[in-house]
Amino acid sequence: MMKKLSPRHAVIPAVECVACGTCVDVCPREAVSIYKGSYAQVNDEICVGCGNCARECPASIIRLEARR
Ligand code: SF4
Ligand code: SF4
Repeated sequence: MMKKLSPRHAVIPAVECVACGTCVDVCPREAVSIYKGSYAQVNDEICVGCGNCARECPASIIRLEARR
């Protein structure tokens, strides 16, 4: 059976990310990791679109978008 996904998910533009790790720390689902120390990556199937990361990102680069 397919897992039901949240209506929204977090999208992080890698080029703008400074890899501070704040989003990793505030995500309640452990959906974010820092790829090779250089930018944050969201595991899309785990993200529930809660918006914690977007609220806390000091660079304000995280968008919550409707899943397509
Ligand atoms: S929206 Fe919520 S669940 Fe998704 S990556 Fe951000 S903090 Fe984690
Ligand atoms: S909080 Fe923002 S700048 Fe920091 S790692 Fe996450 S996306 Fe990148």
